[in-house]
Amino acid sequence: MTTELESCLKTVSADIRMILERSLEGHEVTVMDGALLSEARGTDLHALCLVADELRRRQAGDRVTYVVNRNINFTNVCIKNCKFCAFARTIRSEQGYFLPHEEIARRVRQAWDMGATEVCLQAGLSPNLTGDSYIDLCRVVKEAAPDIHIHAFSPEEVKFGASLKRVSFKDYLVLLMNAGLGSLPGTSAEILNDQLRKIIAPTRISTAEWVDVITSAHELGIPTTSTMMFGHVESVEDRMGHMDLLRRIQRGTGGFTEFVPLSFVHEEAPLFVKGKVSGVRPGPTGDDVLRLYAIARLMLGHDIPNLQASWVKEGLRTSQLLLSSGVNDLGGTLMNESISTAAGARHGQLMTPATLRRVIRDAGRNPVERNTCYRIVREFGPTADRDPIEPLDAVQDSDAVFGSYEALTLDARFHYEPRGLRVVG
Ligand code: SF4
Repeated sequence: MTTELESCLKTVSADIRMILERSLEGHEVTVMDGALLSEARGTDLHALCLVADELRRRQAGDRVTYVVNRNINFTNVCIKNCKFCAFARTIRSEQGYFLPHEEIARRVRQAWDMGATEVCLQAGLSPNLTGDSYIDLCRVVKEAAPDIHIHAFSPEEVKFGASLKRVSFKDYLVLLMNAGLGSLPGTSAEILNDQLRKIIAPTRISTAEWVDVITSAHELGIPTTSTMMFGHVESVEDRMGHMDLLRRIQRGTGGFTEFVPLSFVHEEAPLFVKGKVSGVRPGPTGDDVLRLYAIARLMLGHDIPNLQASWVKEGLRTSQLLLSSGVNDLGGTLMNESISTAAGARHGQLMTPATLRRVIRDAGRNPVERNTCYRIVREFGPTADRDPIEPLDAVQDSDAVFGSYEALTLDARFHYEPRGLRVVG
């Protein structure tokens, strides 16, 4: 324990100090403890962050990891109407797009040539999709770049594909795995509480179904990430209950690679803009983000050692600050970030490896490129002098090289046409 932490703990409120000291001794932080820690302000918050940093050091070491990857959101047309989502378009929208296989293959090849080890495929639930579409997509990706890792399909998409194919979640996951799927994003979780889900996304996959997809994947040896969207209408108890559920799943399966808290991006979200739900907050405040990440380290770090800051949601500066509050991973380069951009996030669609390494080093830590499953791809030295020159680092204008989300929605080549006129997938 550092001297700073020891002296800081002496100034902290008694009830919070007891939880912090017990967590440093290896005791579990309960849901009630987490709720109490959520009241930490000022010096108490500072001590909470110092304890999260100390636990991060013990559980994940001083390396900070990132992955070179590309997002391919292959369609924005969706039959759902999640109130927090500004990405989806209806089948009649002028801005609806659907990428054909050739374009997806081109994007995969380009990503591989740029040094990516992973592509992340997630999209709207388009009526053009069939029970075979996601399986075919895996094959298209593997034909384009046989060694790239396919990180794809949220539990909501797995449910959609399985229902179209008329098979169980598990049987569908086997089909995807046989076609090349490597891991699942643990998205479509938001807050795993059905009462709250009915408010923010009434037709969303239920908590039980989400858990079913995730645990089925883990049983098959398919790892997944875990996520939580916060800063909208949820309570402190909802957040802690969500993290406790993830912890219980992890203790049963060990299949989560990481936990990624995701700040609600409100600017364009119908939930906020159209006043569809009363009492919705405009995302978390800065202190709320620090607190949540630090509590996540305390509650989950023993079982899920990797805690990722999302530069897409938090911005790179806040993400760097979070490296001192429990975080050990900065996520991916993305190349094409669309979903948060559509919701009003202003942090861009690409983060180059050199930029990620710069902020990691400036925080006094060691940058490491990892793969999707946290195996080390490359370690880097304490200075940039010997860093390799990577193709992605040379990208000056990511819109020109990778295409922007806005341009995609206006591109006549990819305009969505309902099935019957042009069948894709
Ligand atoms: S969050 Fe996903 S399922 Fe919900 S509306 Fe948006 S694209 Fe569709």
